[in-house]
Amino acid sequence: MYLVKEIFYTLQGEGFHAGRPAVFLRFAGCNLWTGKEADRARDAASRAPCAAFCDTDFVGGEKLAADAVVARCVEALEGAKPGWLVATGGEPLLQLDAPLVNALHAARFEVAVETNGTVRTDGLGLDWVCVSPKIFDARWVQRSGDELKVVVPAYDPDQALTLAANGFAQFFVQPEDGPLRDQNTARAADYCATHPQWRLSVQMHKLVGIR
Ligand code: SF4
Repeated sequence: MYLVKEIFYTLQGEGFHAGRPAVFLRFAGCNLWTGKEADRARDAASRAPCAAFCDTDFVGGEKLAADAVVARCVEALEGAKPGWLVATGGEPLLQLDAPLVNALHAARFEVAVETNGTVRTDGLGLDWVCVSPKIFDARWVQRSGDELKVVVPAYDPDQALTLAANGFAQFFVQPEDGPLRDQNTARAADYCATHPQWRLSVQMHKLVGIR
């Protein structure tokens, strides 16, 4: 059984595949923050800085078997053809496993994952791996994939590159959201201008008002 927070069909908002129609399969739970406001400061200090600014609700959810997850993903399409599916969280790799990936493939989904890099993707048969690292020590174990996405200024793209440059094909910096979003966006844009290996990723879905 999988604890699933929500499943919905939208356009992908950020990163390499921004603008692409996608089913989002959000798993409940994360290993870097409990998701509770009362624990935010503690987890930001003891687990990962992202707990301080994380704006995703990944608490709660519904227990579903693999076939029910697939059925809900198809249902979310409302008649559209299965295509791109993004497994996200929380931290999706705490739950996503090969049987579920296989079941999604059998239903003709391509399966991408957005992970914080603390769980390896070996053997899952994923079609796209986007790692947005949230801790830069030995706990960052998945140092390869299709896309490396670094949130600034909380995290340092140079440091990420030093630790994992050879593992990725696409490199994005993304401004941290919150009251300083405009300032952070300008900073990220400046960084890209002087480091052309990196591209700017903005959270388009928030700008245009989609999920
Ligand atoms: S890893 Fe992602 S979901 Fe988990 S607390 Fe950090 S930003 Fe939020």
